[in-house]
Amino acid sequence: MNDREGADIVANPCELFGENVFDDSVMQKRLPKETYKALKRTTEEGRSLDPAVAGVVANAMKDWAIEKGATHYTHWFQPMTGVTAEKHDAFISPKADGKVLLEFSGKELVRGEPDASSFPSGGLRATFEARGYTAWDPTSFAFIKEGTLCIPTAFCSYGGQALDKKTPLLRSMQALNKQAVRILKLFGNNDVKRVVPTVGPEQEYFLVDKDMYRQRPDLMTTGRTLYGAKPPKGQELDDHYFGVIKPRVQAFMKELNVELWKLGVLCKTEHNEVAPAQHEMAPIFSTVNIATDHNQLTMDIMKRVADRHNLVCLLHEKPFGGVNGSGKHNNYALSTDTGVNLLDPGDTPSENAQFLLFLSAIIASVDDYQDLMRISVASAANDHRLGANEAPPAIVSIFLGDELNAIIESIVKAAKYESHERDQMKLGVHILPKFPKDSTDRNRTSPFAFTGNKFEFRSLGSSQSISGPNVVLNTAIADTLQKMADQLEAADDLTSAVDALIRKTLSDHMRIIFNGNGYDASWVVEAEKRGLLNLRTTVDALPYYLKKKNLDLFERQKVFTNEEVKSRYEIHLENYVKVIDIEALSMVDIARHLILPAAIAYSKEVAKEVELKKAVCPTLSVEVEADLLTAISDQMSKLYKATAAVEKALSDIPRDADALKQAQDTRDKVIAAMNDLRTAGDTLETLVGKKYWPMPTYQDLLMSV
Ligand code: ADP
Ligand code: MG
Repeated sequence: MNDREGADIVANPCELFGENVFDDSVMQKRLPKETYKALKRTTEEGRSLDPAVAGVVANAMKDWAIEKGATHYTHWFQPMTGVTAEKHDAFISPKADGKVLLEFSGKELVRGEPDASSFPSGGLRATFEARGYTAWDPTSFAFIKEGTLCIPTAFCSYGGQALDKKTPLLRSMQALNKQAVRILKLFGNNDVKRVVPTVGPEQEYFLVDKDMYRQRPDLMTTGRTLYGAKPPKGQELDDHYFGVIKPRVQAFMKELNVELWKLGVLCKTEHNEVAPAQHEMAPIFSTVNIATDHNQLTMDIMKRVADRHNLVCLLHEKPFGGVNGSGKHNNYALSTDTGVNLLDPGDTPSENAQFLLFLSAIIASVDDYQDLMRISVASAANDHRLGANEAPPAIVSIFLGDELNAIIESIVKAAKYESHERDQMKLGVHILPKFPKDSTDRNRTSPFAFTGNKFEFRSLGSSQSISGPNVVLNTAIADTLQKMADQLEAADDLTSAVDALIRKTLSDHMRIIFNGNGYDASWVVEAEKRGLLNLRTTVDALPYYLKKKNLDLFERQKVFTNEEVKSRYEIHLENYVKVIDIEALSMVDIARHLILPAAIAYSKEVAKEVELKKAVCPTLSVEVEADLLTAISDQMSKLYKATAAVEKALSDIPRDADALKQAQDTRDKVIAAMNDLRTAGDTLETLVGKKYWPMPTYQDLLMSV
């Protein structure tokens, strides 16, 4: 065991919280009043920053960071690799006397030029400028991590094309803000200046013992096990979910909390998840760009803290076949700068109408852009989960819960009688019956569920950035709100126009609402009847990126140009192919260098036993040994052939073909061959003596902590 068993960690969140963050209170203390005010204006009103102001801020940041022991700074950004990137520069600058002084200029704060040529750009940089630059996002606080001052930045090409996950997110927030404020003005909320999406991402992960991890080349190279027979006890008993947390995990969680609190991350809830060795951490929600930065930081710190406890934190969506994988729940709502949650039904008729308008806008957006929602959670890794009865199906639908659903249905029905039952219309939507927040039952099978005052998008993979799904939500909702605002601003009688719009929107989009069991096979049939998309794999989903309606949406809302969408499409396809290539090659390698030799060694031992028996007493039965040898030999031959089949599938892919064709072949041919190889490998595991097996088993890994 290690000596960091947690007892020595003093955790007073009030003292620790934000200790390593250059946050508002630090700025207030350390910046001259004028500078502080100018910076505030920049962040709150989205103005551009005066270079003189940047210089003063940079200097204050540097002094603060150095007092905290930092020696380096970095522009911390989120390229399309999905993880964060940083290149560290020391603060030092040479002096004439041969010594150094510590410097950090406004220019260095505001703009960086990482040598970015090896980050994925989907062809964007080739056609424009070879290099990209990073630009400070002053709405997200700088922080110190492991002795380095990290400055959250966006990453763009010189032509201004987004090369990262932050730029489109900021653009989509702007689009949504603009349209939501227009709607709120119509309802008389003239004090509202800004609307922001709020997000609380619940993060799932596995912890395994580091020594065991090191004996699993598949985990080390690909983040998931490529072989592994099912253990006798998996998650069948459901005894792990919310179970007592083991001391070693407790110590990890305690230190994780402390580290994240210091970084200003509001981690709040922690518990065991369904699978053995699986856990979850949920923070308190925050503005979506901060939540995105913090979730990236959380994943990074989880890995670092695990390492200090001789553990490894697995963030992969499917580390173990046959055992539930990990996801991320993206809790989403819209909040005004006056502190109102627009997805809270409210108490007065006017609040009710406003709530119903935003609700119907979200319903319409999710229906119209089901394909983009699906794409936003698509990856080779997440394909293992969606639709596999452990995570929502690949079909996008909305769960409202019985009570809200009944309300919506009555609104839609009233619309039908509108012409002859005028009274009903007047009574209509403005008075919502009160329904308690927690009355929405927990439908874990729905991809997008209303949970009282927010939506929970449940299809996200555990390792992905939450940026993509939120870009889609923000953009689609902005677009729907824009159409609504255009219509309502032109109306003579606002009240009846709002009524009519809510009714029409809901009736047009009822098909997306599904309150039943999403794991049920009948839902697939029903969804097809409703005309909903069922994009089973990443490769099925990605081509929808390029549909005209989607290109137009992103362009209209100024979130992505057509070129930017195309570059992202290419990057996702290439990534899919690369991930599976690496997995396939690792499988072949493990089969040849670990599994076959183990099977041979064990067979030899069994054969020796036959000889021995014969020598001692020729009439002794060797039936068991003979059977075993035959079974092992059969599987060895299957394994051997399957390795060749995987290699052939890989080499058959036309590498000069377009990315879609390569991805399709990878899905249809390589994955099938990998599955056969795994079956042979896993069967051998059940036949070969434990002592001879070259890797820790599922049982070893899942019960290791
Ligand atoms: P659970 O789903 O486990 O019952 P909660 O519903 O309290 O827990 O919250 C789950 C997540 O939703 C938390 O991260 C929480 O901060 C977040 N959340 C709560 N309210 C909002 C909101 N208005 N906007 C975004 N996220 C929210
Ligand atoms: Mg939840």
